[in-house]
Amino acid sequence: MPVNTAVFHAIVKEVHASNAQLIAVSKTKPVADVQQLYAEGQRDFGENYVQELMEKQPQLPPDIRWHFIGHLQSNKVKYIAPFVYMIHGVESIKLLREINKQAQKQDRIIHCLLQFFVAKEETKFGMDEQELVLLLRTYLAEKNNFTHIAIGGIMAMASFTEDQQQIRREFKEVKRVFDTIVSEMGSSLPDFKQISMGMSGDYPIALTEGSTLVRVGSLIFGSR
Ligand SMILES: *Cc1c(COP(=O)(O)O)cnc(C)c1O
Repeated sequence: MPVNTAVFHAIVKEVHASNAQLIAVSKTKPVADVQQLYAEGQRDFGENYVQELMEKQPQLPPDIRWHFIGHLQSNKVKYIAPFVYMIHGVESIKLLREINKQAQKQDRIIHCLLQFFVAKEETKFGMDEQELVLLLRTYLAEKNNFTHIAIGGIMAMASFTEDQQQIRREFKEVKRVFDTIVSEMGSSLPDFKQISMGMSGDYPIALTEGSTLVRVGSLIFGSR
């Protein structure tokens, strides 16, 4: 299926009107599709699989900002640390420590988002509010050791459902947790600015509920 550049430009316009940014999710799609969207001006791309990202990255322009949006195992951080811009799914202090360690080896800063579990499903990854706050407290207590990461905000996925009201409620909950963290610890977390939520099926709702980063794949690249 070809890249839908008309839909892409329409989404970019919509996203920018909400002061948010678009991450084009290119997982399972060929390098040529990424190149095509790059030529249309897109620079932020999202991938879910370490192996696939490692294969694509060297074949594509160096100014692409790669967002890792999948579930990342600690032992694989080293493979993407040389180039990854932002890791969206951080859900443990252990992973945060490993990202810092590998970023330090590369003499880079890696931006990290903490994954908040909001869906009414058992399959999704992430932390509840209490775990999230606990992770942040641990991070802040050891902040001097975390020299090579920036905590950029939170990431969440809504339930896979047709119920728009439920999706909206979940996005509101994400925003509430984000705002609570900002008001309680924001002064110690200068980079805590992003709310990564919204995909092809629900990004318009996410934008009205305060998303700053939407991750859209199939609407632009076609179904997988
Ligand atoms: C695949 C994926 C997306 C994009 O999904 P689409 O429905 O194709 O837009 C967004 N976020 C995450 C975490 C994903 O795994």
